Amino acid sequence: MLNSRLLELLKQQFDENKLNRLPERFGGAKFFSFPLIGVAKGNDPIFLKFKEVVGPEHYTPIEMWNINGYNNLPSDQLRVVSIVFPYTRKIREEGLKPIKLKSLLIPSEFHSIARNHANEFIADTMKKVILFFNKEGFDGIAGVLSDYFTVLTKENLYSNWSERHIAFAAGLGTFSLHEGLITEVGCNVRLGSIITDCPLNITLRKNDESYSNCLFYVDGSCKECIEKCPANAITEEGHDKVLCNNYRLNVSRKMVPRLQAFLKPHFRKINNQWREESYPVGCAFCQFGVACMDKNPTKV
Ligand code: SF4
Ligand code: SF4
Repeated sequence: MLNSRLLELLKQQFDENKLNRLPERFGGAKFFSFPLIGVAKGNDPIFLKFKEVVGPEHYTPIEMWNINGYNNLPSDQLRVVSIVFPYTRKIREEGLKPIKLKSLLIPSEFHSIARNHANEFIADTMKKVILFFNKEGFDGIAGVLSDYFTVLTKENLYSNWSERHIAFAAGLGTFSLHEGLITEVGCNVRLGSIITDCPLNITLRKNDESYSNCLFYVDGSCKECIEKCPANAITEEGHDKVLCNNYRLNVSRKMVPRLQAFLKPHFRKINNQWREESYPVGCAFCQFGVACMDKNPTKV
């Protein structure tokens, strides 16, 4: 009952919130279509596993809950709601029209604006979900909006609250060769999550196979994302986050001056220090025009 009411609230948010719209100059269309949700139990052992596979700093739900000063509870009373934000067909079509600037391939302006504006809509959605829980008499916290959220730059780049891993725990999809999460509506999505003591029904994972939605890991086929990446950041050995991040920084250097008037600033902590505002516009060529863009490709 609470799960379905939450989903209704989210559908309304996706349909009616003006933050889910491109600027009028770019047509004013929605950039996210409809929400999917999954719910993990706070004491699911997978959260301890994430300390090994992501990094020891990755919080469990109860650690994130406690560090933010909420009442101490047995961890099995917590729930973690993960939300999938799939891009609309319009944005996906635009994503198939990259711009060539000398040797650098950059995403279309539509896609860059949508990628940038999505941050504000996702944050607003998480706040609305917390408000929903508050009205029901419960608490809620979004890990990525917490003061304790940070990106870490050690030998690799990772955060102490990974939305992809939370979505995996909630049974919404699996990892892949390009490292995106392949959901039932594909990998060309964004993710958000909220920890709550509201007793939502758990949505079980089918299994703990972490790569079972990616064709390459199922039978060695596909590899379309390798071909699509202009930075050679994807190989059969996996995704190189440093090469990927460097390419995205190059894209930003070209794209931000072109679109500055339409972009929204973004603030985040790196290694626990607040960085100057940035204007993320993304890249994601590996997610466009590939078998897993808008579906689970292992399902025929
Ligand atoms: S494009 Fe193919 S190989 Fe790459 S992540 Fe998607 S399914 Fe896997
Ligand atoms: S985001 Fe861009 S640079 Fe990174 S892996 Fe995908 S296509 Fe390559």
